[in-house]
Amino acid sequence: MLKLFSAVLALFLMPAAAFAQQPLVAIDAGHGGFEQGIAYTDSANRTVYEKDIALSLAKALSEALEQKGIDSYLLRDSDVFLGISDRAAIAEKRPPTLFVSLHLSSKNNFNVYTTWFPEQGGGPEDQYLYSNRQKPYLAESRKFAAILEGSLKQAFSPVEVVHIEMPLPLLNEIAAPAVMVETPYPASFNYSGQRLKDLLSSVIANSIDEYSRAGGG
Ligand SMILES: [Zn+2]
Repeated sequence: MLKLFSAVLALFLMPAAAFAQQPLVAIDAGHGGFEQGIAYTDSANRTVYEKDIALSLAKALSEALEQKGIDSYLLRDSDVFLGISDRAAIAEKRPPTLFVSLHLSSKNNFNVYTTWFPEQGGGPEDQYLYSNRQKPYLAESRKFAAILEGSLKQAFSPVEVVHIEMPLPLLNEIAAPAVMVETPYPASFNYSGQRLKDLLSSVIANSIDEYSRAGGG
């Protein structure tokens, strides 16, 4: 009994930092399966699809995070279709401390999205709606978005980095800080090259690291 008591006491005396959550990043490669996303045909007449670029970036990001000792998982690791509710369900089963969705921009710029909620009822029942699950995490989502924007600007200047706030059904359903990032259109970025993939994934991984160290998530 005394042993148990001192064990419990020791638990209480542990510094708060010991209880800090280990970061776990959910990486969402946009589209998949029949949903191909943006298609781009290059000068050699090869067509590349957003779903494939997003998946290869997701894998590269997961590796870059692993090198930093940050755990992550991919919502899809192959060319399969996942609907919004499928994606939200995966993230619900394995709650991440940060959710990052990867897509392509139709322009030669980066877009970093956080979601936005139109004014509505606001009653206590609102917080139980799946479509409102992001609400308590919005400030954290914006905090990470700001770090990511700064890092992308620094690494890819003069490529423009735009922050957009708009209602995004997937992000709305995620109960964790969540951002979506669209990387530039393939006409301006050569995604087949390893160097670009490495640079992109390391810039995003560094931003995640910086955010986690700042106590985010
Ligand atoms: Zn997309």
